[in-house]
Amino acid sequence: MPTLALIATGGTIAGVAASATDTTGYTAGALGADALLAAVPQLAEVAQIRAEQLFKLDSKDMEPGHWLALGRRVQALLDDDAIDGIVITHGTDTLEETAAFLQLTLAGTKPVVLTAAMRPATALSADGPMNLYNAACVAAHPDSAGRGTLVSFGEAIFPALGLRKCQTHRLDAFAGTSAGAIGRHDPVRYFAPAADAPARTFAAPADAAALPRVDVLYVGAGTPPDLVDLVVANGARGIVLALPGNGSLPAGWETPIARTVAAGIPVVCASRAVLGAVNRKTLDDRPGTVAAGELPASQARVALMLALAGGDATALDRLLADGYIP
Ligand code: ASP
Repeated sequence: MPTLALIATGGTIAGVAASATDTTGYTAGALGADALLAAVPQLAEVAQIRAEQLFKLDSKDMEPGHWLALGRRVQALLDDDAIDGIVITHGTDTLEETAAFLQLTLAGTKPVVLTAAMRPATALSADGPMNLYNAACVAAHPDSAGRGTLVSFGEAIFPALGLRKCQTHRLDAFAGTSAGAIGRHDPVRYFAPAADAPARTFAAPADAAALPRVDVLYVGAGTPPDLVDLVVANGARGIVLALPGNGSLPAGWETPIARTVAAGIPVVCASRAVLGAVNRKTLDDRPGTVAAGELPASQARVALMLALAGGDATALDRLLADGYIP
């Protein structure tokens, strides 16, 4: 039987409400890892589980320092011969950022599987226990090796990159940009064989101060472009634009963006469309900016922070161009 590490970080999966019918008014991250395990005795049929509590956070309060601490702990477990796979429980709100950070910084082929829940642990028909059980099945499954960081949620298994939370209340809250789910549960089954194990893309810096500020600007019809100078004046070292459609830049933004890029502040163009990718081809006439490809703005921000921390903002451009980051 495999041995899995369970790292609990909080979220609704560990949430407690006063009433079993209350699915929105609750305290996230209230229960400890032991309580999560105790709710699913069937886990004993899947793996031996070593549980630890790293944080008790509502994931809205996750910060880069938490990503770094979690990444260090997961890497230590990946390097531990006694551990076969890792399950991480997390809030759904910023799960996509943490998943991207882990995917881009971890080295190793053992399964790393994030899961979460939309209903608190106290709710009627809470989704957390089954999600935790399924995530353990994914982490224990030999076909999960070499697939990088995975997210097991609801009926589906997703790759970390391209994932985003698309629903605020429905149980099927996550979707991927273009590829969507790569597998499903009961039993664990993948739709395609694992590609070559992804290598570590960026080295995680030692502390959060080394992860530069990158801001996401949401561009609506008529949004004033003076926001660009504002965030740069406030210390942003990189900008991600959440643009309409396939990265369409309003005419009034062209000069401020060109000036910003010329000043050495990289600009990544993502889409504000819920499941939109941005093609590189679209940006050929906009030199200097980088197309986010399959990454939502939230994940493009994490990737750009890591590229800047490594002192080479063009690394992200190259990785996106090579299709290494989808
Ligand atoms: N606010 C919660 C969190 O992200 C939401 C959830 O977990 O579903 O921690």
